[in-house]
Amino acid sequence: MENCIFCKIIRGEIPATKIHEDEDTLAFLDIHPAAPVHFLLIPKLHIATLSDIDVQHQQLLGKMLWLAPRLAASQGCTDGFRTIINTGRVGGQEVFHLHIHVIGGKDRLPAMIHHG
Ligand code: 5GP
Ligand code: ZN
Repeated sequence: MENCIFCKIIRGEIPATKIHEDEDTLAFLDIHPAAPVHFLLIPKLHIATLSDIDVQHQQLLGKMLWLAPRLAASQGCTDGFRTIINTGRVGGQEVFHLHIHVIGGKDRLPAMIHHG
């Protein structure tokens, strides 16, 4: 996708601090980290949102979920981390190229889900 920020990072047109790259995926540090560890794991294939996932993407998504804890550990998350996929307007998605946020650090993260 011509104007997609994350496709530009994949093509090397925008700099990013990459922590992992293979033929299918790329992971790089978030430009505005929300915690001591905060990186984004993306497919190289431009898929706009999780809602656009199709049956042929199952292996790719499985690989990303398999990678997430390994990359988290490589970034120093030895005692857990949080994964977030914001989807669409209601999900608060800002960049429309599917990405998994991986967030962590030494301290427990604040609760995201508050029960009424
Ligand atoms: P979303 O709200 O779409 O789930 O999250 C998008 C994330 O991408 C945000 O956390 C934001 O800080 C990050 N981001 C946006 N533009 C760039 C960029 O050019 N480089 C990097 N490394 N991260 C970006
Ligand atoms: Zn893209």
